[in-house]
This record gives sequence, C-alpha cells and structure tokens, in this order.
Amino acid sequence: MEEKISAAKERKEALFARHKHGAYRMSAEEKAAAQDFAKEYTAFLNASKTEREACMEAEKLLKENGFVPFVPGMELKAGDKVYRNNRGKAMLAAVIGTEPITEGVRICAAHIDSPRLDLKQNPLYEDHELALFKTHYYGGIKKYQWGAIPLSLHGVVVKADGTSVQVSIGEDEGDPVFCVTDLLPHLATEQMKRPAGAIIRGEELNLLIGSMPFNEDEESESVKLNILHILNEKYGMTESDFLSAELEIVPAFRACDVGLDRSMIGGYGHDDRVCAYPALRALVDCKTPAHTAVVVLADKEETGSDGNTGLCSSYLRYFICDLAECFGAKGRHVLSASQCLSADVNAAFDPTFPDVMEQKNCAFLNHGVCVTKFTGARGKSGTSDASAEFVGVVRRLLDEKKVIWQTGELGKVDAGGGGTVAAYIANLDVDTIDVGVPVLCMHAPFEIVSKLDVYMTYRAFSAFVE
Ligand code: MN
Ligand code: MN
Repeated sequence: MEEKISAAKERKEALFARHKHGAYRMSAEEKAAAQDFAKEYTAFLNASKTEREACMEAEKLLKENGFVPFVPGMELKAGDKVYRNNRGKAMLAAVIGTEPITEGVRICAAHIDSPRLDLKQNPLYEDHELALFKTHYYGGIKKYQWGAIPLSLHGVVVKADGTSVQVSIGEDEGDPVFCVTDLLPHLATEQMKRPAGAIIRGEELNLLIGSMPFNEDEESESVKLNILHILNEKYGMTESDFLSAELEIVPAFRACDVGLDRSMIGGYGHDDRVCAYPALRALVDCKTPAHTAVVVLADKEETGSDGNTGLCSSYLRYFICDLAECFGAKGRHVLSASQCLSADVNAAFDPTFPDVMEQKNCAFLNHGVCVTKFTGARGKSGTSDASAEFVGVVRRLLDEKKVIWQTGELGKVDAGGGGTVAAYIANLDVDTIDVGVPVLCMHAPFEIVSKLDVYMTYRAFSAFVE
C-alpha cells in the first residue's frame, strides 16, 4: 500500500504542473535583491507621473549609463549603446549585439502613459466664486474613483511666442494639491441611484483650483482672475496659452510599501511603468548581448496606440530600419528574424472579486512574472496570440534562467477583456508575446503589485536581452 502511494507521488511530481507562491522557490539573496529593486522602482515611479516625465527619467538613466543619441548612418559595433527620444513622450534604446543584425533583435516594449484626467483646451472657469478646470479623462477609468482624492497637475504649456514651460504642481512637500469634488452622502440619495459609470459623470470631473478673489474690487470672475494672475506670475502664461498646452491631472500621493510584511507596492501608474522600468533596467544592466537588444517605451497605449508616439505609428519600424542600415542590412529582414516581449501588466486574482476570473488560468500575486499567450475579447478578437513554438522558446528561456513565472489569462471568457501593443509589433512580422506584472486594482488611482513579481519581471527581461 505504502509503495503504491509513493509511486503515485513520484508520478505526480513528474507529470503535474505546479502553481505556488514564488517565495517558496526563492533564496534569501533573491528576496533581498527583490526588496532593493522595489526601492529603485518606487523612486522611478514617484519621479514619473506622466509619459513625459517617464521619458525624461528614462533618458537620464540611459545617459548615466553611456547611451548616446542615435544618428542614422553612424558606425556601430557590438557593445555600443544608443537611444532615440521620440518627441519627449516615447523612448527607443538599443545595445548592439555580437551577432549580425540580420539574426534579428530582441525587443522589450512597454508603455509609459497611464489613465488620468487631461485638461480641456479652454479649461478655466469661475462658478459661484470657485475656480475650476474642465477635464476630459484619458484611458479607461472608473470615474467615481477620481473624486475626493488629492490630485497634482503636470505637463507643458507652449506660449504664444513659441517658448514652453514645464508644469508640476502638487508633488513637492508643501505644494498645494487639487481635487475633483464629490457629493456628501447626506445629499447623495439621487446620485447613488445612478449606474456606477455615472456616479460622477464625465462633465462632473471638474477640478477645484481656487476660491479667493483677485482683490477687494467687486469685479465679476475675480477668483478666475486671481488664478490667471498666479499662473502669469509663475509661468508667464495667459488664458489663451491653455490652447497649446498638455496638462495632465494625476494622483498627488507617493508610491509606498503595502502590507505589514512590506511585500507589495501601491501607487499610481504601475500600468505600465512597472514593466517599463524593469525593461529599461534590463537593457542598462546587460553586458554586450548576443542579439542586439532594443527597448521601446511607448505613449498612447491607453487610448489605442494611435498617434505618432503610440505603437501603431512607424517609429519603432523606422528605428529598426535605421539600425539595420548602419550594418548595410534591410530593416524588414531584421524585423522578420526578431523577437519581442510585449511588456504589459495583467490582472491579478482578487479574492474579494473571484467571479470574474477562471482560477485555473488567471495570474496570482507573487506567483512570478506573467506570460500571457493571448489577449483580446469575444473570441480572442484583437489578439496576436503567440505561437506554441514561440511560447516554447520563452518558456525554456525562463526555466533555464530560473525565473519564477506563471501563465495568465485576462479574466473569464466573455467577462470583458483587453489588448496590449503586442498585436502592433507582431504585425511587423516579429514573434511577440505578452509578459508582465500581475496588478490588483488596475487602472485605479492606487494600483498594487508584488515586489517578487516586479523583480521576476526584471529577471525575465534580463534573460531575454542578454
Ligand atoms: Mn498596460
Ligand atoms: Mn492599461
């Protein structure tokens, strides 16, 4: 009897797939390394509240590590490091490999834009002696989550004379913050009957920015005047300058550890800076790779990737073509031989909302970096669906490098769905698969990830580009 059980146990060990908490498979050194990496990532996240700021931080890190601006036609050899900043909103960087470029490049593609509120082009008004900004939300948000929380204002204003000023208010100690007001529960009887998507409506996402008049003259719109006066003193701008501005409203709070065990990080914009930073670090930390390693940090993913800084644009293709030409090769031959990890987050299982997940196939916090074979909705519509062969390649690589990883599908069939930039890169004839960090509260002002998963994502990208 006893012999029979142990034979079954042995067969189980050999044949069953194992899914368990990654901590059981990590050494003390690895756990310490994960904590250290989390600190560096948290600092990056706090400095990168918008796509422009993330792009600036990325450029800083690249320059510090010897990357130089790419010039088409420049002479390149193995170990050379180059980057191209696309309009201050997207970043391309590469480390030249020892293999001929016609053997293909290894691309990690993440996005650095996150859901937020944008100011409208004519945003400022006064209503009953309060000054407010009109907004238009960007990306998929639950609008009610943006009421009654501290918000900060970031972006750029291009003035009439063509000069521009950077704006960042609400991040530094002692800075004022802003707020979208919500109704008190005492008077919300009717509001609470609205469907959740309309608890705060799009045109109710108005940002409170002031309440004092310019001076004692009882002039109308004096509170608005006072705000314009302050903005003029600080930035030299007038009301018309909002027309050529991109001002973004994001949560004002800092990213921080979550849990008594400090195992998680909470913050705004994990999606997708939690993949962008590990991808960037993997590139910066790699020694001379075999295949040329490329990282692209894209904008506009949250609105469908259109526009010249989004990945439906040609700038990634142009960059690869320009790199190819430096070696006398054809860009399309390089692309056809290339591989890509589309580095984006996936939904983590939430025990409070188990119904939307199919628990045999969803991602769990702390089970490691998540490999997503396909995304899409309603019968995989919109997915690029990685081939079994390419999943096999990635799987072997992760196992060989002892990266803790899991597979994850975005929710139950027909529960909803979503997409990433994977399809746009796969459409360039590149073998592509989604790989990234599982997230709780995705797209909320405060998203949660596990430090273990973030570190394993860095390890996965490192294994891929090395
Ligand atoms: Mn994303
Ligand atoms: Mn997203």
